This record gives sequence, C-alpha cells and structure tokens, in this order.
Amino acid sequence: MHKLAQLDHAHVWHPFTQMRDWLKREPVVITAGRGAVLRDVRAREYLDANASIWTNLHGHQHPKINAAIRRQLGKIAHTSALGLANEPASLLAAKLVKAVGRTCDSKGRAARKSQIVNRQLNKVFFSDDGSTALEVALKLAYEYARRTGRNPRLKFLSLEGAYHGDTVGAVSLGHIDLFHKSYSRLLFKTDQVMAPYCYRCPFNRARPERADAREYRKCHWECVAAVESKFAKQKRTKNAYAGFVFEPSMQGAAGMIPQPSGWLRRVAEIARGHGTLLIADEVMTGFGRTGCSLSRLQAESSGGKPPEGGTTNALFACHHEGVQPDFLCLAKGLTGGYLPMAATLTTQKVFDAFLGEYEEYKTFFHGHSYTANQLGAAAALASLDILQGKTSARARLNLERILHGELPMLWSLPNVGDIRQVGLMAGIELVRDWRTRAPFDLRERAGIRVCEAMARRGVLTRPVGNVIVLMPPYCTTPVQVRSMVRAVFISVREVFGKL
Ligand code: PMP
Repeated sequence: MHKLAQLDHAHVWHPFTQMRDWLKREPVVITAGRGAVLRDVRAREYLDANASIWTNLHGHQHPKINAAIRRQLGKIAHTSALGLANEPASLLAAKLVKAVGRTCDSKGRAARKSQIVNRQLNKVFFSDDGSTALEVALKLAYEYARRTGRNPRLKFLSLEGAYHGDTVGAVSLGHIDLFHKSYSRLLFKTDQVMAPYCYRCPFNRARPERADAREYRKCHWECVAAVESKFAKQKRTKNAYAGFVFEPSMQGAAGMIPQPSGWLRRVAEIARGHGTLLIADEVMTGFGRTGCSLSRLQAESSGGKPPEGGTTNALFACHHEGVQPDFLCLAKGLTGGYLPMAATLTTQKVFDAFLGEYEEYKTFFHGHSYTANQLGAAAALASLDILQGKTSARARLNLERILHGELPMLWSLPNVGDIRQVGLMAGIELVRDWRTRAPFDLRERAGIRVCEAMARRGVLTRPVGNVIVLMPPYCTTPVQVRSMVRAVFISVREVFGKL
C-alpha cells in the first residue's frame, strides 16, 4: 500500500463512509487534476464524474481561477469580517446580488419576470459551507418572523427526503431517516410535506416506460394538493409556518429526484398566500447546474428571435420557474469548487428587521472565523466571470445536449428504472426489474457496487443509495461524457449480469 494511503488508513476518518469497508482496500489518493481529469498517487487517471461531490464548475486547475487566487494571495489571504470589510468580498456581494436579480425565466413571461425583479435579494451574509448557509437562513427567518409579530412557537416546513446539511439546524430540516433519525432527540421539530417523486409516486397511475417518469406520469398534481392542505392545516393552528425550505428543480441527496415543471411555481404561490418565507437551498442546483434556458439558446444559435425576457445565463434553478425566494442559500459551486465558502442572500426587508440602537440588541448574533474569506471571494469572483461569459453558456448547453444524447443508451439495461436529467446533472435509478420498479435493498449496495466497477474503469462518482449520479464539470468534453455514460453501462452489466 502506498505510504500516503497507509497514513490515511491510520488517521483519517472519512465523511459518510463505513470505515470498516474503507480500511479493507487501498484508497485512491488524489494528487493532481486538470479539467475533468483527476490523477492519483500511482499516476492513474480518472474522470471526475460527480464534479468532486457537486462542487466543481469549470474543471480543475482553471487558469483564470488559479490566477485570481494567486493575485489575491499576493495581497492577503484572510482577515476577519467581524469589524472589517475587504476588497473581494465587497465586490463579490455586489456581483452576486446582480446575478440573482437577473430574470432567467425560461418561459420569459412578464409576470414572472416582475416577481424576480420586485423581490430583490440585495443583502449577502457569507459563511463557510452549505450547512452554514442554511443555518443562517433558518436563524434569520425565525427571528424575522418573531420580530414581525408572529407566534414564537414558529415552525418550518421542508420536503420529504429533504437534506440540507449536517449541522444541527440543517439536520432538523432533514427527513432522511438513515442520516437523521438517530439524532432526533437532539433536534428541533419541523414538519415535512410530500415532495414530487414521479417515478415512485403513489398517485402516478402510469405503468413503467422507458422514459423519464416525469414525461409519462398520469396524475392530478396530488403533490401540490398535499402542500396546499399542509398549509391549510397549519393555518388552523393560527401559527403559519415561518419558512418553507426546499431544493428547487432537483432534490439531490434524496436520490436525484426532479420536480415536474410547474411544481415549484405552484407551491411557492401557496406558501406566499400564507405569508410564509421561501428558503431556497441552491447549494447543489445553483450556478448554472440546472442548465441554460434551452429554448432561448436554441433560438439564439439558430439566429431566431429568443423568447421575451430572461437571459442565456439561467444561473439559478428558482428562476426557471419564475420564483424569487426570500432567502437563497449558495455554497459548493460558489467558488467554482475551489474553496469552502457560502452565502445566504436575503431582502432589505429582512435586513431592516435587525436594525436598531446598539442597546436594543437587535444585532444578528452569528458569524464564523472565516466569514468573507478573501481567497474564497477571489475564486468566486473569477468563477462568476467565467460563468457569465458566452463561452461558458455555450459549453453548458452543449454538455446538456450531449448528456441528453448519451443517457438513452442506458434504457436497454433492465436494471435501469429511471433516468432523470436536469440540466447538467443526472440520476440513474437502479432497480431489480424495470417492469415492476422493484427496488434493491440498501444492504445489497447496488449503487456502491456499480460505482466501484466504474472506478475500475477510470470514472469516479458516488451513488445516492441506488441512484448513480452523473454531474460532470462544465468543461467535460463530448468524448469524456461518452466515457462516463459508457462506464455506467458496462458496470451495470458487469454487476448484474449480461443482458
Ligand atoms: N444543501 C444541499 C442541497 C446539499 O446537497 C448539501 C451537501 N451535499 C448541503 C446543503 C450541505 O452542504 P455542505 O456539505 O457544504 O455543508
């Protein structure tokens, strides 16, 4: 075993990892990377098919981000945001506010457009990672609701299968028993409501087909009705929810579960009707992951007239549905996948509720040592620059199309039940038999076994249960995408036997 692997085995405790299994074999020790390729200590190369757990946007060793960090390093690496402002964080806050204020509704409807513009998220609270971005939103929403005269027994509503991070507040919002149940006595109580999961929805009357379940579902939007009745029930307690927390477009850790088009817009309207604040967790979906506004880019590239409103850079999932939340939580891709940094954006109205004389103690008493770190902010500024350029928009659209073209090869595998692509990410649900949707028991480690087989073929990703995740960096070439999908194909066949 390599010396570095031995040191790892001796001392490192890995996240979300059964360490007994980990200690059975030599780990891949990464030493370098460029673009979508990672290199290990034994000079083997791998494709980074999950963008280093959904963080990397433009590839590893991007010259512009590298240069921005070096430039900043030549000035200063870090000073505290407690009592001091700094150059890159001020610039980044302004740039984020502008990016989030853009109208990106793919349908370009004027009414939606004004919803986004009218609810300006012009205040940015920096923190360190996705979990802390959610903690900040939770505490702000709670305190805002309390200060604006609501019942102090405030409650939050989140989705079935929700995952918003691993700190105690974020875990309280979570509803994945495997991760969250053992801590239940440590947590505060939150309500959960049915989330769309068309492939396994009890209200979907359609028989399984070889297509994304959202496309052939037969239902009456019972998932929206469930949200409606949850809010109505809560109203009877005379204590409306303080906040409704959701991942827009796709629930990641729940199993890469996408929402049918229109769901978010409808439930956002319901929540707003009850005066509940919307907290959007775009830790995974933010920064272009949910794809470009396809119709718009197609129109532009063919020289046609793009639909009214919106831009080609649909950077945030909420904007595809014309929804502007009251809190937008960002992390992972914020720095292009380089450094740990997060941001919680909110409105002037929320900000104002924390203003007062010093002795009124209305201050938001929350902060972290590395809040608004200069190196992170410099990386984020460079990443946003790249993202907002035409080249990146084109690259993202191409990648989205290539994925869309390659994934259907997997339908020939009887153990593939559902393939769900949202923009530049896809979940492939493995099942015992696609005709019955019979799931594998988690104990069978179907997802893990397939990913292990993929790793032997030079493609790295992690499953979510029995769902294989493909989330390539935006710089991934067509040949590399093809290799990723092919690796899924061959590995599924290897693990479950030939066709
Ligand atoms: N929200 C979502 C949607 C996530 O996917 C994650 C992490 N996978 C988090 C929050 C937590 O982020 P972090 O791991 O950076 O704390």
